[in-house]
Amino acid sequence: MIVVMRPGATQQQVSEVQRVVEAHGLEAFVSLGDERTVIGVVGSDVERVAHLGTLPGVDQVIRVSSPYKLASLQDQADRTRVRVNSVDVGAGHQMVVIAGPCAVESREQLLDTARWVRREGARMLRGGTFKPRTSPYAFQGLGLPALRLLAEARQETGLPVVSEVVDPSHVEEFDEHVDVLQVGARNMHNFVLLRAVGQSRRPVLLKRGLSATIEEWLLAAEYILSAGNPNVILCERGIRTFETATRNTLDLSAVPVMRSKTHLPIMVDPSHGTGQRHLVGPMALAGAAVGADGLLIEVHPDPPNARSDGDQSLGFDEFGQLMDELRRLHFVRRESEGEGEVTVAAPMEIAAGVDEVRHRIDDLDARLIGLLQERAALAVEVQRRRGPDGHGHDVRRERELLRRAAEGANGPIPPSELTAIFGAVLRASRSAQRRFVQDSHSADATRKP
Ligand code: PEP
Ligand code: MN
Repeated sequence: MIVVMRPGATQQQVSEVQRVVEAHGLEAFVSLGDERTVIGVVGSDVERVAHLGTLPGVDQVIRVSSPYKLASLQDQADRTRVRVNSVDVGAGHQMVVIAGPCAVESREQLLDTARWVRREGARMLRGGTFKPRTSPYAFQGLGLPALRLLAEARQETGLPVVSEVVDPSHVEEFDEHVDVLQVGARNMHNFVLLRAVGQSRRPVLLKRGLSATIEEWLLAAEYILSAGNPNVILCERGIRTFETATRNTLDLSAVPVMRSKTHLPIMVDPSHGTGQRHLVGPMALAGAAVGADGLLIEVHPDPPNARSDGDQSLGFDEFGQLMDELRRLHFVRRESEGEGEVTVAAPMEIAAGVDEVRHRIDDLDARLIGLLQERAALAVEVQRRRGPDGHGHDVRRERELLRRAAEGANGPIPPSELTAIFGAVLRASRSAQRRFVQDSHSADATRKP
């Protein structure tokens, strides 16, 4: 913290600042200038002397370090990865799409949506249980019974579920039934609720308040972190501005701004961010393009008849088209490409030093050899089950593999070379099968009298 004195401040005023600082167990370093005196304040918890600005002769007090410690990138350089069952969010992992209805309305509505979004590649299911509605007469959500429906949807689809908790006394019950507790925009300043979810063992999705600055939002995250819960995911969902053409103004600059300030993952909600169905797709793509760790998207089987937020909910087809587009642009992977286990580390994320990089290459080579042998062993197993006279390859699957290989060219290897590599892998597996057949024939021949 730096205290800047007014021009002409007296020596007595400077000494008084120094005295107050030291009385709080902090150190004061005084620099006398020709015009002004500045005093550097150091020590732990300098916020204790935040009131220095009210002392006579003080012009301004400038904070140097961030008021949020646990959320700050200054104090933790490694990005936080939040693990939700087997889904990783943040720290360079594949972008995660969370989709589902604004509110859980019925068993059928939720399960239909869950099955559909799963099929389309969503990795988590959302669904509101208690809806914080502007009007007390609007649908308020099914309440606690919806938690059981969410648990059932998770059981059937395997998708972790996310739901908003509005009452601190419900946290325990939510803990039992859902995988991620959401704190909604209207509750970002509800410090009792923030502390309560801070004591939960579940990760928390913290929406940005309707009029919250980045700093206020990070301080809200700090409440949760300081209560003992390290698993916080931030979610930009639009802020109130003078603009009325959209429900909110989706502040996408919050994503790179947050990246520069915090290690926590950051998601984008283009549904509440825009309030209009036709804007959700473009802003979801934009969110992905600015590097969001995930997207939160409202999907409903019958948006015009949804009991809340129908105007901004995507129908099944629209959600499918958006997922296709996200896949085409390689923001999300195809299911066949794995659930994010294989991540291409960006060169800057690889630890420094040529030797270290070479060791990583050696490790990968060893794993590749093992994987290729495992693949060939499985091909031989297929041959064994087909019997020695069974012939013919599943050409359709081979073609599909080559096509996928060509499409997986979002790294330094171009499609032609990937296709050539997989062509060689297929040939090696086929030769292993042929050798197996020949060996079985010659074993048969030696057994025959
Ligand atoms: C929601 O995601 O269901 C919701 C109510 O969002 P927000 O708190 O951002 O308005
Ligand atoms: Mn909603």
